[in-house]
Amino acid sequence: MSERIPFHQQVAIQPEVVERFGDLHPPFDRQAAVPEANRCLYCFDAPCTGACPTHIDVPRFIKKIASGNLAGSARTILDANILGASCARACPVEVLCEGACVMHRFNKQPIQIARLQRFAMDSLHESGSPLPFEPGAETGFSVALIGAGPASLACAAELRRRGVRADLYDARPLPGGLNTYGVAEYKLPLVESLREIEMLSQLGVSFHFNTMIDASKLAELERKYDVVFLGIGLGTIHRLGIAGERLAGVTDALDLIAGYKSGERTTVPPRVIVIGAGNTAIDAAIAAVRLGATDVHIVYRRGPEQMSAFTFEYEHARNEGVKFLWHVQPTRIRGGKEVEGLELIKLVSTVDGPLVPQAGSEFSLETDLVVLSIGQGTHTGFLSEAGSEGGKVQLERGRILIDRATGQTSYPKCFAGGDCTNGGREVVDAVADGRRAGIGIAAWLEGQHVQA
Ligand SMILES: Cc1cc2nc3c(=O)[nH]c(=O)nc-3n(C[C@H](O)[C@H](O)[C@H](O)COP(=O)(O)OP(=O)(O)OC[C@H]3O[C@@H](n4cnc5c(N)ncnc54)[C@H](O)[C@@H]3O)c2cc1C
Ligand code: SF4
Repeated sequence: MSERIPFHQQVAIQPEVVERFGDLHPPFDRQAAVPEANRCLYCFDAPCTGACPTHIDVPRFIKKIASGNLAGSARTILDANILGASCARACPVEVLCEGACVMHRFNKQPIQIARLQRFAMDSLHESGSPLPFEPGAETGFSVALIGAGPASLACAAELRRRGVRADLYDARPLPGGLNTYGVAEYKLPLVESLREIEMLSQLGVSFHFNTMIDASKLAELERKYDVVFLGIGLGTIHRLGIAGERLAGVTDALDLIAGYKSGERTTVPPRVIVIGAGNTAIDAAIAAVRLGATDVHIVYRRGPEQMSAFTFEYEHARNEGVKFLWHVQPTRIRGGKEVEGLELIKLVSTVDGPLVPQAGSEFSLETDLVVLSIGQGTHTGFLSEAGSEGGKVQLERGRILIDRATGQTSYPKCFAGGDCTNGGREVVDAVADGRRAGIGIAAWLEGQHVQA
Protein backbone atom coordinates (compact mmCIF):
# COMPACT_ATOMS: atom_id res chain seq x y z
CA MET A 1 0.00 0.00 0.00
CA SER A 2 1.42 3.43 -0.95
CA GLU A 3 2.08 5.86 1.89
CA ARG A 4 -0.28 8.83 2.20
CA ILE A 5 1.23 12.28 1.50
CA PRO A 6 0.75 14.53 4.58
CA PHE A 7 -2.14 16.95 4.06
CA HIS A 8 0.00 20.09 4.27
CA GLN A 9 2.31 18.74 1.57
CA GLN A 10 -0.57 18.13 -0.85
CA VAL A 11 -1.01 21.83 -1.63
CA ALA A 12 1.23 24.20 -3.58
CA ILE A 13 0.43 27.77 -2.57
CA GLN A 14 1.72 30.47 -4.92
CA PRO A 15 4.59 32.49 -3.38
CA GLU A 16 2.80 35.77 -4.21
CA VAL A 17 -0.22 34.64 -2.13
CA VAL A 18 2.09 33.95 0.82
CA GLU A 19 3.71 37.36 0.33
CA ARG A 20 0.45 39.32 0.05
CA PHE A 21 -1.26 37.59 2.96
CA GLY A 22 1.57 37.86 5.50
CA ASP A 23 0.97 37.24 9.21
CA LEU A 24 -1.39 39.77 10.85
CA HIS A 25 0.10 39.12 14.32
CA PRO A 26 3.71 37.95 13.93
CA PRO A 27 4.69 35.17 16.35
CA PHE A 28 6.55 35.60 19.63
CA ASP A 29 10.09 34.31 20.01
CA ARG A 30 11.29 33.00 23.39
CA GLN A 31 12.73 36.43 24.38
CA ALA A 32 9.32 38.02 23.97
CA ALA A 33 7.17 35.11 25.18
CA VAL A 34 8.76 34.59 28.61
CA PRO A 35 8.43 38.21 29.85
CA GLU A 36 4.85 38.31 28.52
CA ALA A 37 4.08 35.05 30.37
CA ASN A 38 5.59 36.54 33.52
CA ARG A 39 3.15 39.48 33.34
CA CYS A 40 0.24 37.06 33.95
CA LEU A 41 -1.23 37.27 37.47
CA TYR A 42 -2.32 33.58 37.33
CA CYS A 43 -5.75 34.51 38.68
CA PHE A 44 -7.36 31.79 40.80
CA ASP A 45 -10.82 32.22 39.21
CA ALA A 46 -9.31 33.03 35.80
CA PRO A 47 -11.96 34.98 33.82
CA CYS A 48 -10.01 34.25 30.61
CA THR A 49 -10.65 30.52 31.07
CA GLY A 50 -14.34 31.20 31.64
CA ALA A 51 -14.52 33.37 28.50
CA CYS A 52 -12.88 30.71 26.31
CA PRO A 53 -15.60 28.44 24.87
CA THR A 54 -13.23 25.43 25.23
CA HIS A 55 -12.22 26.50 28.77
CA ILE A 56 -8.49 26.10 28.25
CA ASP A 57 -6.71 26.43 31.61
CA VAL A 58 -5.05 29.67 30.52
CA PRO A 59 -3.02 30.54 33.67
CA ARG A 60 -1.70 26.95 33.75
CA PHE A 61 -0.43 26.92 30.15
CA ILE A 62 1.05 30.40 30.54
CA LYS A 63 2.83 29.43 33.78
CA LYS A 64 4.42 26.47 31.96
CA ILE A 65 5.75 28.84 29.28
CA ALA A 66 7.27 31.02 32.01
CA SER A 67 9.01 27.99 33.54
CA GLY A 68 10.28 26.73 30.15
CA ASN A 69 8.01 23.65 30.03
CA LEU A 70 6.76 24.17 26.48
CA ALA A 71 5.68 20.56 25.90
CA GLY A 72 3.61 20.68 29.11
CA SER A 73 2.11 23.99 28.03
CA ALA A 74 1.03 22.53 24.65
CA ARG A 75 -0.46 19.52 26.42
CA THR A 76 -2.57 21.74 28.69
CA ILE A 77 -3.89 23.57 25.61
CA LEU A 78 -4.56 20.42 23.58
CA ASP A 79 -6.28 18.69 26.46
CA ALA A 80 -9.10 21.26 26.20
CA ASN A 81 -8.79 22.25 22.56
CA ILE A 82 -7.34 19.89 19.97
CA LEU A 83 -7.21 22.75 17.42
CA GLY A 84 -5.23 24.98 19.81
CA ALA A 85 -2.86 26.10 17.04
CA SER A 86 -5.67 27.29 14.74
CA CYS A 87 -7.61 28.93 17.53
CA ALA A 88 -4.50 30.82 18.66
CA ARG A 89 -4.50 32.47 15.22
CA ALA A 90 -8.21 32.70 14.39
CA CYS A 91 -9.98 33.49 17.69
CA PRO A 92 -11.48 36.99 18.00
CA VAL A 93 -9.74 37.27 21.38
CA GLU A 94 -10.87 40.87 21.94
CA VAL A 95 -14.35 39.48 22.67
CA LEU A 96 -13.15 36.20 24.27
CA CYS A 97 -10.22 35.41 26.61
CA GLU A 98 -8.23 38.64 26.23
CA GLY A 99 -11.39 40.72 26.51
CA ALA A 100 -11.96 39.16 29.96
CA CYS A 101 -8.36 39.64 31.21
CA VAL A 102 -8.23 41.36 34.65
CA MET A 103 -5.48 43.67 33.34
CA HIS A 104 -8.27 45.79 31.80
CA ARG A 105 -9.37 46.67 35.37
CA PHE A 106 -5.94 48.21 36.01
CA ASN A 107 -5.94 50.04 32.66
CA LYS A 108 -3.13 47.83 31.46
CA GLN A 109 -2.74 45.89 28.21
CA PRO A 110 -4.37 42.44 28.51
CA ILE A 111 -2.03 39.44 28.49
CA GLN A 112 -1.45 38.39 24.88
CA ILE A 113 -3.00 34.97 25.46
CA ALA A 114 -3.42 34.01 21.79
CA ARG A 115 0.19 34.81 20.89
CA LEU A 116 1.42 32.83 23.90
CA GLN A 117 -0.86 29.94 22.90
CA ARG A 118 0.54 30.08 19.38
CA PHE A 119 4.10 30.14 20.75
CA ALA A 120 3.47 26.92 22.75
CA MET A 121 1.71 25.18 19.84
CA ASP A 122 4.27 26.22 17.21
CA SER A 123 7.05 24.98 19.50
CA LEU A 124 5.37 21.57 19.65
CA HIS A 125 4.96 21.42 15.87
CA GLU A 126 8.55 22.58 15.24
CA SER A 127 9.96 20.02 17.69
CA GLY A 128 8.44 17.25 15.55
CA SER A 129 7.17 15.60 18.76
CA PRO A 130 4.07 13.44 18.39
CA LEU A 131 0.68 14.47 19.73
CA PRO A 132 0.88 14.03 23.52
CA PHE A 133 -2.08 11.62 23.60
CA GLU A 134 -2.57 7.98 22.69
CA PRO A 135 -5.78 6.49 21.31
CA GLY A 136 -7.82 4.71 24.01
CA ALA A 137 -8.16 0.90 24.14
CA GLU A 138 -10.48 -0.11 21.27
CA THR A 139 -14.13 -0.47 22.37
CA GLY A 140 -15.45 -1.87 19.09
CA PHE A 141 -17.84 1.09 18.69
CA SER A 142 -17.72 3.19 15.52
CA VAL A 143 -18.93 6.65 14.54
CA ALA A 144 -19.35 8.21 11.08
CA LEU A 145 -18.71 11.96 11.12
CA ILE A 146 -20.19 13.96 8.24
CA GLY A 147 -17.97 16.94 7.49
CA ALA A 148 -14.30 17.29 8.40
CA GLY A 149 -14.44 20.83 9.79
CA PRO A 150 -13.46 21.91 13.33
CA ALA A 151 -16.60 20.44 14.96
CA SER A 152 -16.08 16.96 13.51
CA LEU A 153 -12.30 17.05 14.06
CA ALA A 154 -12.71 17.88 17.76
CA CYS A 155 -15.41 15.24 18.12
CA ALA A 156 -13.23 12.62 16.37
CA ALA A 157 -10.26 13.37 18.66
CA GLU A 158 -12.36 12.80 21.79
CA LEU A 159 -13.78 9.60 20.35
CA ARG A 160 -10.34 8.20 19.51
CA ARG A 161 -9.03 9.08 22.99
CA ARG A 162 -11.89 6.88 24.27
CA GLY A 163 -11.22 3.98 21.88
CA VAL A 164 -14.14 4.66 19.50
CA ARG A 165 -13.49 4.36 15.74
CA ALA A 166 -13.94 7.73 13.99
CA ASP A 167 -14.43 7.88 10.19
CA LEU A 168 -14.83 11.34 8.68
CA TYR A 169 -16.61 11.97 5.34
CA ASP A 170 -16.23 15.31 3.54
CA ALA A 171 -17.36 16.61 0.18
CA ARG A 172 -14.09 18.54 -0.21
CA PRO A 173 -10.70 17.10 -1.23
CA LEU A 174 -8.95 18.21 2.00
CA PRO A 175 -9.95 18.39 5.67
CA GLY A 176 -10.61 21.40 7.92
CA GLY A 177 -13.82 22.91 6.51
CA LEU A 178 -13.76 26.70 6.81
CA ASN A 179 -10.66 26.49 9.01
CA THR A 180 -8.80 25.46 5.86
CA TYR A 181 -10.89 27.19 3.16
CA GLY A 182 -12.53 30.18 4.89
CA VAL A 183 -10.48 31.88 7.63
CA ALA A 184 -8.41 34.73 6.14
CA GLU A 185 -4.92 33.62 5.13
CA TYR A 186 -3.20 36.46 7.08
CA LYS A 187 -4.75 34.99 10.24
CA LEU A 188 -4.58 31.26 9.57
CA PRO A 189 -2.66 29.99 6.53
CA LEU A 190 -4.27 26.99 4.84
CA VAL A 191 -1.02 25.06 5.27
CA GLU A 192 -1.06 25.60 9.05
CA SER A 193 -4.62 24.30 9.33
CA LEU A 194 -3.61 21.18 7.40
CA ARG A 195 -0.41 20.68 9.43
CA GLU A 196 -2.46 20.63 12.63
CA ILE A 197 -4.92 18.10 11.20
CA GLU A 198 -2.04 15.91 10.05
CA MET A 199 -0.96 15.73 13.69
CA LEU A 200 -4.46 14.83 14.77
CA SER A 201 -4.51 11.92 12.34
CA GLN A 202 -1.90 10.28 14.62
CA LEU A 203 -4.86 9.32 16.81
CA GLY A 204 -6.04 6.95 14.09
CA VAL A 205 -8.85 9.08 12.68
CA SER A 206 -9.73 8.00 9.13
CA PHE A 207 -10.72 10.36 6.31
CA HIS A 208 -12.91 9.86 3.22
CA PHE A 209 -12.71 12.87 0.90
CA ASN A 210 -14.69 13.94 -2.18
CA THR A 211 -17.69 12.19 -0.61
CA MET A 212 -20.92 14.15 -0.55
CA ILE A 213 -23.39 12.57 1.87
CA ASP A 214 -26.97 12.67 0.59
CA ALA A 215 -30.12 11.07 2.03
CA SER A 216 -29.36 7.59 0.68
CA LYS A 217 -25.70 7.61 1.79
CA LEU A 218 -26.83 8.85 5.21
CA ALA A 219 -29.16 5.85 5.51
CA GLU A 220 -26.23 3.59 4.61
CA LEU A 221 -24.01 5.19 7.29
CA GLU A 222 -26.77 4.86 9.89
CA ARG A 223 -26.89 1.11 9.22
CA LYS A 224 -23.11 0.68 9.22
CA TYR A 225 -22.14 2.78 12.28
CA ASP A 226 -23.28 2.94 15.90
CA VAL A 227 -23.65 6.75 15.75
CA VAL A 228 -23.64 9.47 13.09
CA PHE A 229 -22.22 12.91 13.98
CA LEU A 230 -23.33 15.86 11.83
CA GLY A 231 -20.66 18.56 11.55
CA ILE A 232 -21.83 19.89 8.20
CA GLY A 233 -21.46 23.63 8.82
CA LEU A 234 -23.59 26.07 6.85
CA GLY A 235 -24.50 26.17 3.16
CA THR A 236 -23.89 28.65 0.40
CA ILE A 237 -24.20 32.45 0.58
CA HIS A 238 -27.75 33.77 0.04
CA ARG A 239 -28.58 35.40 -3.30
CA LEU A 240 -30.06 38.90 -3.46
CA GLY A 241 -32.80 38.07 -5.95
CA ILE A 242 -32.04 41.04 -8.24
CA ALA A 243 -31.38 41.17 -11.98
CA GLY A 244 -27.83 40.47 -13.13
CA GLU A 245 -26.77 38.00 -10.41
CA ARG A 246 -25.83 35.39 -13.04
CA LEU A 247 -23.48 37.68 -14.99
CA ALA A 248 -19.79 36.78 -15.26
CA GLY A 249 -18.04 38.80 -12.61
CA VAL A 250 -20.53 38.06 -9.83
CA THR A 251 -19.18 35.73 -7.17
CA ASP A 252 -19.66 35.16 -3.46
CA ALA A 253 -17.33 35.74 -0.53
CA LEU A 254 -16.80 32.03 0.21
CA ASP A 255 -15.73 31.31 -3.38
CA LEU A 256 -13.42 34.32 -3.49
CA ILE A 257 -11.73 33.39 -0.20
CA ALA A 258 -11.49 29.65 -0.90
CA GLY A 259 -10.19 30.49 -4.39
CA TYR A 260 -7.23 32.56 -3.25
CA LYS A 261 -6.49 30.32 -0.24
CA SER A 262 -6.22 27.23 -2.43
CA GLY A 263 -4.09 29.11 -4.97
CA GLU A 264 -6.74 28.92 -7.71
CA ARG A 265 -7.26 32.70 -7.77
CA THR A 266 -4.26 35.01 -7.68
CA THR A 267 -5.75 38.33 -8.82
CA VAL A 268 -8.98 40.32 -8.96
CA PRO A 269 -9.87 43.19 -11.33
CA PRO A 270 -9.29 46.81 -10.17
CA ARG A 271 -12.86 47.70 -9.04
CA VAL A 272 -14.66 45.45 -6.54
CA ILE A 273 -17.93 45.87 -4.63
CA VAL A 274 -18.74 43.60 -1.68
CA ILE A 275 -22.42 43.48 -0.64
CA GLY A 276 -22.96 42.92 3.11
CA ALA A 277 -21.15 44.01 6.28
CA GLY A 278 -20.44 40.90 8.37
CA ASN A 279 -16.99 39.52 9.21
CA THR A 280 -17.03 37.44 6.02
CA ALA A 281 -17.69 40.56 3.91
CA ILE A 282 -14.77 42.30 5.62
CA ASP A 283 -12.49 39.32 4.91
CA ALA A 284 -13.58 39.33 1.25
CA ALA A 285 -12.98 43.08 0.88
CA ILE A 286 -9.50 42.88 2.44
CA ALA A 287 -8.74 39.89 0.22
CA ALA A 288 -9.72 41.97 -2.82
CA VAL A 289 -7.31 44.73 -1.76
CA ARG A 290 -4.50 42.25 -1.22
CA LEU A 291 -5.23 40.58 -4.57
CA GLY A 292 -4.62 43.85 -6.36
CA ALA A 293 -7.94 45.77 -6.47
CA THR A 294 -7.46 49.53 -6.25
CA ASP A 295 -11.06 50.55 -5.55
CA VAL A 296 -12.95 48.37 -3.04
CA HIS A 297 -16.36 49.27 -1.62
CA ILE A 298 -18.53 47.55 0.96
CA VAL A 299 -22.20 48.45 0.52
CA TYR A 300 -24.69 47.79 3.31
CA ARG A 301 -28.39 48.50 3.70
CA ARG A 302 -28.10 49.57 7.34
CA GLY A 303 -25.67 51.77 9.30
CA PRO A 304 -22.31 51.03 10.98
CA GLU A 305 -24.00 50.46 14.35
CA GLN A 306 -26.05 47.56 12.93
CA MET A 307 -23.30 45.72 11.02
CA SER A 308 -22.46 42.29 12.44
CA ALA A 309 -18.68 42.63 11.83
CA PHE A 310 -16.54 43.13 14.94
CA THR A 311 -15.32 46.71 15.40
CA PHE A 312 -11.67 45.67 15.14
CA GLU A 313 -12.39 43.92 11.81
CA TYR A 314 -14.12 47.08 10.54
CA GLU A 315 -11.12 49.20 11.57
CA HIS A 316 -8.80 46.73 9.89
CA ALA A 317 -10.72 47.02 6.61
CA ARG A 318 -10.67 50.84 6.77
CA ASN A 319 -6.92 50.75 7.36
CA GLU A 320 -6.55 48.58 4.25
CA GLY A 321 -8.35 51.26 2.22
CA VAL A 322 -11.80 49.66 1.96
CA LYS A 323 -14.56 52.28 1.55
CA PHE A 324 -17.98 51.86 3.17
CA LEU A 325 -21.34 53.00 1.81
CA TRP A 326 -24.13 52.82 4.41
CA HIS A 327 -27.93 52.82 3.99
CA VAL A 328 -27.93 51.76 0.36
CA GLN A 329 -29.71 48.88 -1.34
CA PRO A 330 -28.56 47.22 -4.57
CA THR A 331 -31.37 47.11 -7.14
CA ARG A 332 -29.68 45.67 -10.25
CA ILE A 333 -26.31 44.38 -11.40
CA ARG A 334 -25.68 45.95 -14.77
CA GLY A 335 -23.76 44.48 -17.69
CA GLY A 336 -23.83 42.65 -21.04
CA LYS A 337 -22.15 39.29 -20.57
CA GLU A 338 -19.91 40.65 -17.83
CA VAL A 339 -20.54 42.92 -14.88
CA GLU A 340 -20.20 46.63 -15.63
CA GLY A 341 -21.86 48.30 -12.66
CA LEU A 342 -24.10 48.07 -9.63
CA GLU A 343 -27.27 50.15 -9.37
CA LEU A 344 -28.26 51.27 -5.88
CA ILE A 345 -30.87 53.33 -4.09
CA LYS A 346 -30.47 55.21 -0.81
CA LEU A 347 -32.53 54.11 2.18
CA VAL A 348 -34.00 56.45 4.77
CA SER A 349 -35.68 55.68 8.08
CA THR A 350 -39.38 56.29 8.58
CA VAL A 351 -41.16 57.52 11.71
CA ASP A 352 -42.12 53.99 12.79
CA GLY A 353 -38.67 52.52 12.14
CA PRO A 354 -38.15 50.50 8.94
CA LEU A 355 -35.78 51.77 6.27
CA VAL A 356 -37.43 52.59 2.94
CA PRO A 357 -36.01 53.52 -0.48
CA GLN A 358 -35.76 57.28 -1.00
CA ALA A 359 -37.47 58.27 -4.25
CA GLY A 360 -35.11 59.85 -6.77
CA SER A 361 -31.92 58.78 -4.91
CA GLU A 362 -30.90 56.08 -7.40
CA PHE A 363 -27.24 56.02 -8.38
CA SER A 364 -24.76 53.65 -9.95
CA LEU A 365 -21.18 52.50 -9.24
CA GLU A 366 -18.92 51.19 -11.98
CA THR A 367 -17.38 47.84 -11.04
CA ASP A 368 -15.63 44.77 -12.49
CA LEU A 369 -16.46 42.31 -9.71
CA VAL A 370 -19.45 42.00 -7.37
CA VAL A 371 -19.00 39.81 -4.28
CA LEU A 372 -22.13 38.69 -2.43
CA SER A 373 -21.80 38.33 1.32
CA ILE A 374 -25.26 38.59 2.84
CA GLY A 375 -25.19 35.54 5.11
CA GLN A 376 -25.03 31.79 4.62
CA GLY A 377 -28.02 29.46 4.36
CA THR A 378 -28.27 25.99 5.89
CA HIS A 379 -27.99 22.77 3.91
CA THR A 380 -29.77 20.35 6.16
CA GLY A 381 -32.47 19.57 3.56
CA PHE A 382 -31.13 16.06 2.93
CA LEU A 383 -31.90 15.13 6.56
CA SER A 384 -35.62 15.39 6.08
CA GLU A 385 -35.73 13.58 2.74
CA ALA A 386 -37.89 10.47 2.80
CA GLY A 387 -36.25 7.12 3.50
CA SER A 388 -33.61 8.30 5.93
CA GLU A 389 -33.83 7.79 9.67
CA GLY A 390 -32.00 11.12 9.83
CA GLY A 391 -35.42 12.56 8.96
CA LYS A 392 -36.20 12.19 12.66
CA VAL A 393 -33.62 14.89 13.44
CA GLN A 394 -35.53 17.99 14.50
CA LEU A 395 -34.66 21.27 12.79
CA GLU A 396 -35.51 24.86 13.59
CA ARG A 397 -35.24 27.29 10.66
CA GLY A 398 -32.78 24.86 9.05
CA ARG A 399 -30.55 24.53 12.15
CA ILE A 400 -30.17 21.17 13.85
CA LEU A 401 -31.58 21.17 17.37
CA ILE A 402 -29.35 19.52 19.99
CA ASP A 403 -29.08 18.98 23.69
CA ARG A 404 -26.30 21.52 24.36
CA ALA A 405 -24.69 19.40 27.09
CA THR A 406 -24.19 16.28 24.96
CA GLY A 407 -24.74 17.27 21.32
CA GLN A 408 -27.49 14.63 20.96
CA THR A 409 -30.29 15.40 18.49
CA SER A 410 -33.95 14.38 18.76
CA TYR A 411 -32.97 11.12 16.99
CA PRO A 412 -30.75 9.46 19.64
CA LYS A 413 -28.39 7.81 17.14
CA CYS A 414 -27.50 11.22 15.66
CA PHE A 415 -25.36 13.88 17.34
CA ALA A 416 -24.39 17.27 15.90
CA GLY A 417 -22.32 20.39 16.58
CA GLY A 418 -20.71 23.51 15.13
CA ASP A 419 -22.16 26.01 12.69
CA CYS A 420 -25.04 23.71 11.61
CA THR A 421 -26.36 23.92 15.19
CA ASN A 422 -25.38 27.44 16.29
CA GLY A 423 -26.09 29.25 13.01
CA GLY A 424 -22.44 30.26 12.45
CA ARG A 425 -20.09 31.41 15.18
CA GLU A 426 -16.31 30.95 15.59
CA VAL A 427 -13.86 28.08 15.15
CA VAL A 428 -13.45 27.78 18.93
CA ASP A 429 -17.24 27.37 19.37
CA ALA A 430 -17.27 24.54 16.85
CA VAL A 431 -14.35 22.88 18.66
CA ALA A 432 -16.17 23.20 22.00
CA ASP A 433 -19.33 21.68 20.48
CA GLY A 434 -17.40 18.83 18.86
CA ARG A 435 -15.56 18.01 22.07
CA ARG A 436 -18.76 17.95 24.13
CA ALA A 437 -20.39 15.71 21.52
CA GLY A 438 -17.40 13.33 21.46
CA ILE A 439 -17.66 12.91 25.22
CA GLY A 440 -21.48 12.68 24.97
CA ILE A 441 -21.37 9.99 22.25
CA ALA A 442 -18.85 7.83 24.13
CA ALA A 443 -20.97 8.05 27.32
CA TRP A 444 -24.18 7.24 25.39
CA LEU A 445 -22.60 4.24 23.65
CA GLU A 446 -21.28 2.97 26.97
CA GLY A 447 -24.79 3.37 28.48
CA GLN A 448 -26.40 1.46 25.58
CA HIS A 449 -23.83 -1.31 25.99
CA VAL A 450 -24.52 -1.62 29.74
CA GLN A 451 -28.31 -1.78 29.12
CA ALA A 452 -27.98 -4.43 26.38
C1 LIG B 1 -15.22 33.51 5.40
C2 LIG B 1 -15.22 33.08 6.82
C3 LIG B 1 -14.21 33.53 7.66
C4 LIG B 1 -14.19 33.11 8.98
N1 LIG B 1 -13.20 33.58 9.80
C5 LIG B 1 -13.15 33.18 11.09
C6 LIG B 1 -12.12 33.65 11.95
O1 LIG B 1 -11.29 34.48 11.57
N2 LIG B 1 -12.08 33.19 13.21
C7 LIG B 1 -12.99 32.27 13.68
O2 LIG B 1 -12.87 31.84 14.83
N3 LIG B 1 -14.00 31.82 12.89
C8 LIG B 1 -14.09 32.25 11.61
N4 LIG B 1 -15.11 31.81 10.80
C9 LIG B 1 -16.09 30.86 11.34
C10 LIG B 1 -15.54 29.43 11.38
O3 LIG B 1 -14.80 29.16 10.23
C11 LIG B 1 -16.66 28.41 11.56
O4 LIG B 1 -17.42 28.78 12.71
C12 LIG B 1 -16.15 26.98 11.75
O5 LIG B 1 -15.33 26.60 10.68
C13 LIG B 1 -17.34 26.03 11.86
O6 LIG B 1 -16.89 24.71 11.90
P1 LIG B 1 -17.86 23.49 11.47
O7 LIG B 1 -17.07 22.27 11.67
O8 LIG B 1 -19.15 23.63 12.17
O9 LIG B 1 -18.19 23.75 9.93
P2 LIG B 1 -17.29 23.96 8.63
O10 LIG B 1 -15.97 24.51 8.98
O11 LIG B 1 -18.13 24.71 7.68
O12 LIG B 1 -17.06 22.47 8.10
C14 LIG B 1 -18.14 21.72 7.58
C15 LIG B 1 -17.59 20.68 6.62
O13 LIG B 1 -18.66 19.79 6.27
C16 LIG B 1 -18.57 19.46 4.90
N5 LIG B 1 -19.92 19.05 4.48
C17 LIG B 1 -21.07 19.76 4.59
N6 LIG B 1 -22.11 19.05 4.18
C18 LIG B 1 -21.63 17.85 3.78
C19 LIG B 1 -22.23 16.68 3.26
N7 LIG B 1 -23.56 16.57 3.07
N8 LIG B 1 -21.42 15.63 2.94
C20 LIG B 1 -20.07 15.71 3.14
N9 LIG B 1 -19.47 16.80 3.64
C21 LIG B 1 -20.23 17.85 3.97
C22 LIG B 1 -18.05 20.72 4.25
O14 LIG B 1 -17.41 20.42 3.01
C23 LIG B 1 -17.08 21.25 5.31
O15 LIG B 1 -15.76 20.78 5.08
C24 LIG B 1 -15.18 32.23 9.48
C25 LIG B 1 -16.21 31.80 8.64
C26 LIG B 1 -16.24 32.23 7.33
C27 LIG B 1 -17.37 31.82 6.44
S1 SF4 C 1 -8.83 29.01 22.32
FE1 SF4 C 1 -9.18 31.14 21.69
S2 SF4 C 1 -10.55 31.99 23.25
FE2 SF4 C 1 -9.67 30.09 24.10
S3 SF4 C 1 -7.86 30.79 25.27
FE3 SF4 C 1 -7.15 30.23 23.21
S4 SF4 C 1 -7.17 32.13 22.01
FE4 SF4 C 1 -8.43 32.48 23.87
